[in-house]
Amino acid sequence: MDSIYSDPELRKLIELAIKPPVRDKKCPRCGKAFYAYHLNRKFCTDYCADAYYNEIRRPAKQILTELAQRDKEEKERQAYKDSLPLPENILRRNIAILDKLIIEPFAGTAYQISDLQALGLDFSVFSYKERLVGKAEECYALFFGTYKVTQLDEKRIKIRNRKK
Ligand SMILES: [Zn+2]
Repeated sequence: MDSIYSDPELRKLIELAIKPPVRDKKCPRCGKAFYAYHLNRKFCTDYCADAYYNEIRRPAKQILTELAQRDKEEKERQAYKDSLPLPENILRRNIAILDKLIIEPFAGTAYQISDLQALGLDFSVFSYKERLVGKAEECYALFFGTYKVTQLDEKRIKIRNRKK
């Protein structure tokens, strides 16, 4: 004859009888002790389960969702503001373009005007300009942030970075 342990269903029942699972639980919402007829029961009643979800879990999730949404909207607003063709935005873009260029620290570096325009540099928007002395024609140096730009000839300019 087979041992009762060879029957998996019986074995399970015996194991449960020897070591019964904890059914005396405490409701996480109201703190009341209750007996869990169903082992996966976490709350004393359906009312407490629903209330717990409504009072604690959902609001917390809602707050996180709302914060994420607000953050996203703020980023979109900022991106939109940055994209407007305002002088400060164009200047910032100009400086960002110049930041990517390789510029010799002391001598400065010559660049083709057309190449810089192709990169998106808008020469009409700069921080300020300075009249160059000792020139027959009216010549100016343009400043984009810390960058000083002077014209070499019709096609080329020289860029220096005055940042230390
Ligand atoms: Zn409860």
